[in-house]
Amino acid sequence: MTTPAATGRLSAFTNEPVTDFSIPANRAAAVAALARVRKEMGCDYELWIAGSAHKTGDLLTSVNPSQSSEVVGRHHKATPELATRAIEDAHAYFTEWSRVPAEHRVELVVRAAALIRQRKFDFDAWLVVEAGKTWPEADGDVSEAIDFAEYYARQMQKFASPEPTVQMPGERDEMIYLPLGAGIVIPPWNFPLAIMAGMSLAALVAGNTVVIKPSSETPTIAQKFAEVLREAGFPARSFSLCTGSGSSVGDLLVEHPKTRFVSFTGSRAVGLRINELAAKPRKGQVWIKRVVAEMGGKDAIIVDREADLESAATGVVQSAYGYQGQKCSACSRAIVDEAVYDEFLEKVKTKVAALTVGPADDPANFMGPVISASARKAILDYIEVGKKEGRLISGGGPAAGDGYFIQPTVIADIDSKARLFQEEVFGPVLAVTKSKDFDHALQLANDSEYGLTGAAYSKNPEKLRKAREQFFVGNLYLNRKCTGAMVGAHPFGGFNMSGTDSKAGGPDYLLQFLQAKSIAEKIG
Ligand code: NAP
Repeated sequence: MTTPAATGRLSAFTNEPVTDFSIPANRAAAVAALARVRKEMGCDYELWIAGSAHKTGDLLTSVNPSQSSEVVGRHHKATPELATRAIEDAHAYFTEWSRVPAEHRVELVVRAAALIRQRKFDFDAWLVVEAGKTWPEADGDVSEAIDFAEYYARQMQKFASPEPTVQMPGERDEMIYLPLGAGIVIPPWNFPLAIMAGMSLAALVAGNTVVIKPSSETPTIAQKFAEVLREAGFPARSFSLCTGSGSSVGDLLVEHPKTRFVSFTGSRAVGLRINELAAKPRKGQVWIKRVVAEMGGKDAIIVDREADLESAATGVVQSAYGYQGQKCSACSRAIVDEAVYDEFLEKVKTKVAALTVGPADDPANFMGPVISASARKAILDYIEVGKKEGRLISGGGPAAGDGYFIQPTVIADIDSKARLFQEEVFGPVLAVTKSKDFDHALQLANDSEYGLTGAAYSKNPEKLRKAREQFFVGNLYLNRKCTGAMVGAHPFGGFNMSGTDSKAGGPDYLLQFLQAKSIAEKIG
């Protein structure tokens, strides 16, 4: 492998600007990208394992959730033998990759960011057709992927030249950071590029090899990312793309004795299963596996009687229905002071009535489809539960069209012990609950096994102070929506059953993929 010139100190990190689709040139570029992507749709994709492509003949088909008869890609699925080979080869190649100078790894990650940036409209289009994201949501995902790459590249420069330790007399003392080994990266479908790229590039830039097991809903986006890694110059064996269902290859990868770490983002149920399986040492295993598991949310927005109600209603509606409520950070509980409850509900009802639902590629739609037929069924079942548990204000069923469309739904008067208040629905469903005062609202908000994001709207600084102190979430927002975390500014990760709070996009994140070694040399 050739080593390009050292990157030198990278300039200060800045967030990638999101595309303004109201500008005609950007609209035209989006239309052209969609046409390019549509020409490519329906192709077969091979696995990438241990440095070469593989076919198995057993295919996974991914479809456009806006138009389920449209095939996005057909993907060869890994067999257990290939999955085993992927992790064993990642382990075997680790020594070589871990010795590549950090500056070179940084350079490759920056190149990957540049390639994604160059292909931004194409990546946006793949996210529109495979994940059902509207153009702005897709562009947010792609911009975040670029941000993760640029941010972690800079963080690696920091960890490659650590701060000096205290020097003992007669010694040269230092602490350096080493990569861990071969890891498994398991992303969800809801940020199929950003989260996959973030976890993979963080692991790679730190000097680890990775086996990426993409979500079965969004395997084409994973293929496009693997193309970027190869073109950026990542060695063929530094990563594998091991498409296949969680149940057939997921457990195997997690349990393998050569797996050193698992970097997972997804549901609570799967995260806990991975944590449990990884905790059990297997024959030949010489380490405790490290598990980073970022999981679900039941995120609340508190609306105080002293809030700007117009701004609070806008924040709640954007947080609840952006990407059809399929964000771990989505607002699924609005906890509203009784003094402003009815007025607030009216405002939300009016704003929800103005939301448009339909195919994600049509820029006129604010909401696209949910990800799959099974997700639609699960969400509609929850809506039926909600109708019994509370009072239906808006929506309440499927929306018209050939895709997996659901009406934005608001259900009021939900009790804190109700299922709709406690369980993650992961769809466009908002439960509204009345609080007596701000203290009661905080108690209600914290009455959850999750603790991912939360927001409080109030003009009273004392109440905001209390929220800072008592609202038990990993990401708290005051007088703004609870979605839209920005890399660098809002390191992201939750408490309790929301996960291990690894804070993606934060200054400590790379430590998840590193181990520190202390060295003392006697001198003189
Ligand atoms: P999921 O069903 O838990 O799946 C996540 C990933 O795990 C997928 O790649 C899935 O593969 C894989 N998987 C399933 N079973 C497995 C097993 N036994 N072993 C190993 N891997 C396995 O979650 P999802 O539906 O994709 O994503 C939505 C969830 O993610 C929500 O709960 C959301 O709140 C959470 N989320 C959390 C964050 C955060 O930062 N906290 C961010 C985004 C999303 P298959 O697709 O093949 O099943």
